[in-house]
Amino acid sequence: MIEKLNLLQQHALAALGDVDGLAALDEWRSQTLGRKGELSSLMRGMGKVPAEERPAVGQAANEVKATLEAAYETRRLSLAEAAQREALQRDAVDVTLPGRAAEVGRLHPETQTLREIYAAFADLGFQVYRSRDVELDEYNFQLLNFPLHHPARDMQDSFYVASPEGTEGDVLLRTHTSPGQVHAMREVVAQAKADGLGDNELPPVRIVLPGMCYRNEQITARSEIQFLQVEGLAVGKKITMADLKGTLHYFVRRLFGPQRKLRFRTSYFPFTEPSAEVDMDCILCEGSGCRLCKYTGWLEILGCGMVHPTVLRNGGYDPDIYSGFAFGMGPERITMLKYGIQDIRYFWSNDLRFLEQF
Ligand SMILES: [Zn+2]
Repeated sequence: MIEKLNLLQQHALAALGDVDGLAALDEWRSQTLGRKGELSSLMRGMGKVPAEERPAVGQAANEVKATLEAAYETRRLSLAEAAQREALQRDAVDVTLPGRAAEVGRLHPETQTLREIYAAFADLGFQVYRSRDVELDEYNFQLLNFPLHHPARDMQDSFYVASPEGTEGDVLLRTHTSPGQVHAMREVVAQAKADGLGDNELPPVRIVLPGMCYRNEQITARSEIQFLQVEGLAVGKKITMADLKGTLHYFVRRLFGPQRKLRFRTSYFPFTEPSAEVDMDCILCEGSGCRLCKYTGWLEILGCGMVHPTVLRNGGYDPDIYSGFAFGMGPERITMLKYGIQDIRYFWSNDLRFLEQF
C-alpha cells in the first residue's frame, strides 16, 4: 500500500510537470486530489490493510496528500504569474507613440463679435440688458410710436404666436430689440419710485440690448428670418446728438480701426427723432470705390437717432427733463464686413466647415 502511494506521488508529480495552463491544472487537481481522484480511490482500499499497519499507511497517505497539495500550490502561483505577465505584455501601451489631439471647441463668430461689441460699450459704461424674445404687440410696436397702420405691423411680416388669452395678433416674436428699451426704462423708473425718488431725480440709463429677432422674410444671401440685433440706449439729462456721434465714432474705430470715418445720413424710424443712418468709409478700398461698397466708398453699418419724446414718456421719463439716444446694428453685418463673408445664411446653418474658420 505504501509502495502504491509512493508510485502515485511519483506519477502525479510527473504529470504536474506537463501541465501547461490554469485549466489543465484544475483538471490535474480533480484527477489526483479530488473526491473521485486517484488518492481517494486508493484510500478506499484501507479496509484490506491489516489493523497494525494502518497508522503507518495513514501517515504515509497524509504525507503524499500534503506533498501533492504543496506542489499544486507552487505550480498554480507560477502559472498565474506567467498568465499575468503575458496579459501585461499584450495590453502594453507604447508611450512613445504620438497622442491623438482632443478636438477643441470654439466660439461661434457671432459670439465673438457680440463680445467685442459688449467690451467696447462696457468701457463707456454701458451694461448688457437682456429682454424677452416673445413680445406683446404693445411693446414691439405701440409703445415705440409705430403708427397703427405702419407697414412693419403687417401680419405677413411678423411671426405671431398664440397668446394664452386666445386674442389674435397680440403676441409675436420680436421683430427688433427695441421693445427692450421700454422694459428697461420702466424697470429703472419703478425701482426709483420705490426708492422714493422724484420725477426729476431718475437715474440715467446706459445699456446695450442684444438678442435674436425674427421677421417673416424671403431667405436670401442678405436676409434671414432670424438674425441678431444689438441696440443701444442712453437716457439722462442734457444728452445730445453730439454724445451719440462721439459714442458711435468710438465704437466703430474700436472695431474697425482708428482711421475710420463716419457719415450720418438723415433717415426715419418711428422711435427716434431726428433719425440717421450711419455709414463708415469702406474698409476694403478706404473710400475710393470697390465691389464691397458698390463703388460708393461707404458701407452702411448702423441706424440711430435721439429717442422720440413719446418713447421716453412711455418709458416713464419726462421728455421735458430727459433726453436720450438710441442706435441699432446687426452683428451679422459687422461680422460679414470684418471677415469678408458673402452669405448671411452661413451663420445659422451650423455648417462646421464655416464655423471652424473662426
Ligand atoms: Zn469699397
